[in-house]
Amino acid sequence: MTIQNYINGQFLDPIDTNWIDNYCPATGAIYGKIPNSSKADVAAAYSAAKDAFPTWSKTTLETRSRILIKISELLEAHLDRFAEAESKDNGKPISLAKAVDIPRAASNFRFFGNAITQFASESHESIGHDAVNYTLRQPIGVVGCISPWNLPLYLFTWKIAPAIAAGNCVVAKPSEVTPLTAYLLGEICNAAGLPKGVLNIVHGLGTSTGQAIVEHPEIKAISFTGGTATGAHIARVAAPMFKKLSLELGGKNPNIIFADCDYEDMLNTTVRSSFANQGQICLCGSRIFVEATIYEQFKKDFVAKVSALKVGHPSDDATDIGALVSKPHLEKVMNYIDIAKNEKGTVLCGGNKVTVKGYENGYYLEPTVIEVASDDCRVNQEEIFGPVVTIMPFTTEDEVLEMANKVKYGLSATLWTNNLKRTMKLSNQLQAGIVWVNTWMMRDLRTPFGGVKASGVGREGGFEALRFFTEAKNVCIKY
Ligand code: NAD
Repeated sequence: MTIQNYINGQFLDPIDTNWIDNYCPATGAIYGKIPNSSKADVAAAYSAAKDAFPTWSKTTLETRSRILIKISELLEAHLDRFAEAESKDNGKPISLAKAVDIPRAASNFRFFGNAITQFASESHESIGHDAVNYTLRQPIGVVGCISPWNLPLYLFTWKIAPAIAAGNCVVAKPSEVTPLTAYLLGEICNAAGLPKGVLNIVHGLGTSTGQAIVEHPEIKAISFTGGTATGAHIARVAAPMFKKLSLELGGKNPNIIFADCDYEDMLNTTVRSSFANQGQICLCGSRIFVEATIYEQFKKDFVAKVSALKVGHPSDDATDIGALVSKPHLEKVMNYIDIAKNEKGTVLCGGNKVTVKGYENGYYLEPTVIEVASDDCRVNQEEIFGPVVTIMPFTTEDEVLEMANKVKYGLSATLWTNNLKRTMKLSNQLQAGIVWVNTWMMRDLRTPFGGVKASGVGREGGFEALRFFTEAKNVCIKY
């Protein structure tokens, strides 16, 4: 299968005819090729976006909204096709792509299609000065959106939908590891009547295509989701050009469990928050801290449940854990299991590569639980981003709070307790952009989404995203 760029409403080969292989994680086989777009392709995408901007930015909110909602409906109508494509490209269970990834991508368009009709600017009456100020929220122009491989269409559309809803035109790049659903999105946009050039999708490596987007002097804002090291690099390139930047980066999220929680609910959710999407969700709780009084019980019950998870081909309905996204990623995750062993961690279950019959070259790994003696070890400090979690006991609130905060990251935290005072105190003091109490990954798209410390800068979601994708201009009128 050959994937092409989507520029000015058309599907095009890369100008330099430079291609890269696309792998299927479930089989380990190459099943297609994608453009490795150059500066020339990004320039063509920019030019189409620039030409589309004067009309799109003046298109009524009602029309923009109608088109976004149409895209959403078409995604839903093609749910199976998109879910199959996502699963094939990423290795995630098809059931997950059907239940989460594609419905959420559709929701992103519907949500921002509606949100833009409710987005308002402010006015300030300067009493005593006979003046009034009103603030315009104007689209920026051409913006860049760059996304990772773990939730491919879900995170790609989480940026594109608010960008175009706010009247911008977009040059977007999905991860080169999972380009397929972004490619299919082009067809949907054409069918929904999105004017040509409003969205342009260029494929390729981060170091070539992504870099060309970030370096382009006329692309005035970059919305990026990916690794912390890449985010730091992008910030270095973009800062001297004074680009607006939104950076959603890595995490090492604590999952804090107190003895007074609703145990069954906590246990089932903790299995999910540890291993959903093969543990490849930036919000997964990879460091599990359990109050000492229930630690042994938790350890026994958790390991039993995790050991029962079925690793298998993503299209098998019985599969809980599909394939990891790529061979290098599988090797990286397995290397961390070795590091844990060298650091005297105890592997309580998992730790090995899995051979799935008929798909012997696929990138399968057992869900892995490691007991660690201290939070200072590398597996508790560095992002692994795979089906590997650590567990350790704690005794006091202050002790667990200190451990939870003692990492460079600060994306999300999960807290399991029925104690109100403790909930208030810890939620207040946890260094994270998102705190879940007695739940995990429950999302309301109006809420701010993002991290602190090395987990990023800025917030996505709701009006925060619409503010990011607009420039505020204040007008002061004296009367
Ligand atoms: P990555 O940083 O390697 O790549 C992300 C995207 O950036 C890809 O499209 C890639 O091609 C591009 N890129 C790479 N180098 C670039 C450069 N020099 N210039 C411009 N673009 C470049 O990340 P990944 O491995 O695809 O994704 C995993 C990471 O993403 C993890 O660290 C995970 O925590 C993070 N993540 C964060 C969130 C969040 O919301 N905070 C969500 C999902 C994933």
